[in-house]
Amino acid sequence: MGEIREMICIMCPMGCNLSVKKSGAEIEVSGNGCNRGLNFAKEEITSPKRVVTSSVKTAQGVKSCKTTIPIPKDMIFLVMQEIDKLCLKEAKFGQVVIKNVLNTGADIVITAND
Ligand code: SF4
Repeated sequence: MGEIREMICIMCPMGCNLSVKKSGAEIEVSGNGCNRGLNFAKEEITSPKRVVTSSVKTAQGVKSCKTTIPIPKDMIFLVMQEIDKLCLKEAKFGQVVIKNVLNTGADIVITAND
């Protein structure tokens, strides 16, 4: 039988509508305008990942932060919990506040400019 999913490619502003059919290990993708969409669809159906954006508590208030690379979607909640544990004296743009968070390979970096 297999699973069919419709999704929109987020790899460029074209936003191609992708149709992804998965039967066992076989994955068929249609609607993609290029190979980036093919790779995106395959990853999305096997192990979806996202960049996480959040905020860190500091003595000067909250500062925005994000992961340096996309992390597995099923780790997002746990990573948010790790970020929530922080309470820093200060945080500057570009500062790594958690290195290799939960062994995802991603660092948490400050994105606030102020
Ligand atoms: S499939 Fe290619 S052209 Fe279409 S949105 Fe994705 S990256 Fe852009």
